[in-house]
Amino acid sequence: MNKPTPIIRVKNLRKEYVAGEDVVVALKDVSFDVMQGEICCIFGTSGSGKSTLLNQLAGLENPTSGEVLIGNIPVSKLSEHDLAIFRQRYLGFIFQSYNLMQTMTALENTALPLMFKGVNKKEREARAKDILKTVGLSHRLNHYPNQMSGGQQQRVGIARAFITKPKIVFADEPTGNLDTKTTVEVMEMIKDFARKYDQTIILVTHEPDLAQYATRVITLADGEIISDIKKERE
Ligand code: ADP
Ligand code: MG
Repeated sequence: MNKPTPIIRVKNLRKEYVAGEDVVVALKDVSFDVMQGEICCIFGTSGSGKSTLLNQLAGLENPTSGEVLIGNIPVSKLSEHDLAIFRQRYLGFIFQSYNLMQTMTALENTALPLMFKGVNKKEREARAKDILKTVGLSHRLNHYPNQMSGGQQQRVGIARAFITKPKIVFADEPTGNLDTKTTVEVMEMIKDFARKYDQTIILVTHEPDLAQYATRVITLADGEIISDIKKERE
């Protein structure tokens, strides 16, 4: 049997930031592979390089050296245009501060990624309604972000990230602004979606409690991997 190929390959990644006279080495020499279906937690204290790593994985910033391959595509070598299309096709994002469009309803926010994909309005709305039902928001379709609680807004954020069934969903501190009970609900939702469609999740957090939702925990300190622990899938 062929060995399965990893969905993400990180090779000798280094990222330096220049701030005035100082050079900050945010990532030193980071290498790892992620297999499809893994819920991979990038764990570490504030300043350890988690967001920098996520930005590299998603092609949001270019590395100083090394490379990231998604599928077989070197993300840092794509043009802006190709990268935008690549993201729409394969990636989803969940943010700590939800990043919903304030002038759009829950339904419109959720349907937005489908608009970029050229899906017609009727189908967009039907699919958005469907997924908002799954996250328990059927009664909030026409509410604007400022008319919803943090937990409700993040559920819209999750619906928006998963509506296109992306291969990989990146989540940077997705529960950072939520209470404990809502955190559990939101993490269970992310895990359930990922399991259902065999999606890969990259979950960035400094909260030890969130690691329990992961199948693998990579710990960063000062821009280096200090441990990488895989759990058996239950
Ligand atoms: P984390 O997400 O784990 O809190 P970051 O990846 O945001 O950490 O930051 C890692 C290190 O890189 C920190 O020391 C931070 O100050 C530095 N850093 C991050 N972004 C920049 C930037 N744009 N310019 C300069 N330094 C940065
Ligand atoms: Mg961060």
